[in-house]
This record gives sequence, C-alpha cells and structure tokens, in this order.
Amino acid sequence: NDASFDVPTRPEDYDWSDHFPEVMAEWRERQAAAAGAGAGADAPGGAEGAAAAGAEEAPAVRFVDIGCGFGGLLMKLATHYPDTLMLGMEIRDKVTAYVRERIAALRRESPGSYRNASVLRTNAMKYLPNFFKKGQLTKMFFLFPDPHFKAANHRRRIINTQLLTEYGHLLAPGGWLYTISDVPELGEWMKSKLDAHPLFERVSEEELAADVAAGLLALSSEEGQKVARNGGATYRNVYRRLAQPRPQ
Ligand code: SAM
Repeated sequence: NDASFDVPTRPEDYDWSDHFPEVMAEWRERQAAAAGAGAGADAPGGAEGAAAAGAEEAPAVRFVDIGCGFGGLLMKLATHYPDTLMLGMEIRDKVTAYVRERIAALRRESPGSYRNASVLRTNAMKYLPNFFKKGQLTKMFFLFPDPHFKAANHRRRIINTQLLTEYGHLLAPGGWLYTISDVPELGEWMKSKLDAHPLFERVSEEELAADVAAGLLALSSEEGQKVARNGGATYRNVYRRLAQPRPQ
C-alpha cells in the first residue's frame, strides 16, 4: 500500500544522493571548488565567482522507465546514455529491491558504469509530479504495461488522456514518450489516446530508425524478451511532446 513508501511533497524536497551518489558528490565538489575560487578573489569579482558557482544546476533525472519491472531496459539505457540520469519506477516492492540489487552489483563489477541509473518504488499513476518538475524529463518509457482488459478497468491503464496531460507537463518540449505492447487492443488504445492528445505528435519511422532508445524497446526488457521467445508481435507507438498544444 502507499503508506509503505515515502513520497516527497515537492520535487525540491527530494534528495537524489542515495540514488546517484557519485554523480551528486562530483557536482557538490564542483560547486565547492567554484565557490572557493570565487571567495578567493576580491569583490566584486568574488561575488561574480560565487554567482557563477551557483550557475550549474544540480544533476537531474531525465529519463524514466514507468513500471520498469526487472529493469532490463534501464540497464541497456544506462550504458547507451552514460551521461544521463535515469530512473526506473516500479510499484512492486520485491521487484524494486531486485532491480536495486542488480544495479548495485553492476556498479561493483564495472566501476564508473551504471552510476547514472537507479530505481524507486512508487505508484507512478499518482506521484510523478512529487518527484519531477515541469519540463524536466526528456524521455518517458512505458514498456508492456498491464493491459487491464475489462472495460471497467480501463481507467487503470497507465496511458490515458488525463495522465498524458501530466506526462506532457513533465516532459520538456521535444521530449519523447515511448510505448510498446504485445496486446493489439492496448497498442491501438495507446495510439488513439496519443493521436488525440493536443500535446503530442507521432514520431516518424525515419526518426525512430535513427534513435537508439527506440531500437531497444522490443528486446531489452524482460517482458519483451518473453514475447519474442514466444514469437509474439509487438506494437510500438512513440510520440513527441510539442512546444505548444496543437489547436483542436
Ligand atoms: N516494463 C517491464 C518490462 O517490459 O519487462 C515490466 C512490464 S510488466 C507487464 C508491468 C509492470 O508495471 C509491473 O512490474 C508492475 O508492477 C508495474 N506497475 C503497474 N502499475 C504500476 C504503477 N501504478 N506504478 C508503478 N509501476 C506499476
């Protein structure tokens, strides 16, 4: 239940040091060094130096894998985009713990790698705005989400019109939202909700062919590998967050 995990009131309240200790420590060192350099100079140069020291924003999560499961996509993304902070979000406690341990093991085996990937247990349908600021994210991934077949449960689908508005708020203009499913009906549902949403436009096949992340969707995650083993088809729908809502 929700009471068993902490949720920050606002994104500013959340400390990412536990997730990305090396990256955050290096940033703090740069801040301290720049502040020290500024303080050493005579005013007003000192003041300018201090202002410049504050100029480098804290590293922030840019990619999220929603319902990341066992973390296969995240592990692939971590090495393909080594300078991007990325977070898997997963509601199941044991699965989250597994991914956390998997990342810790990979970090031990390959020092310097996987320091940009982490995982967090939460209900992503409820709490994304508690963790991320407007326009912060550049990629959001939804791989093989639960289909919730019954019509009465369609409101529980992780792609719906209301949540797309929220995802659009969190995505930077030009950011991409990736979906894939092996359930034809769900693939069609996600396509129709995204086509109809004024904040999104479909990414062309040419652009997808040139995009590393798009090439990872079908075969990187545990669910994707299972579908492939069983010879199942997949339905990929990738959209761009527009700078301005499309006139309706
Ligand atoms: N994306 C993974 C993959 O492709 O292997 C996992 C797919 S699995 C079918 C769907 C995952 O979404 C499950 O691990 C489930 O626990 C998670 N999930 C479902 N609802 C969620 C929510 N509201 N917040 C976070 N994770 C959720």
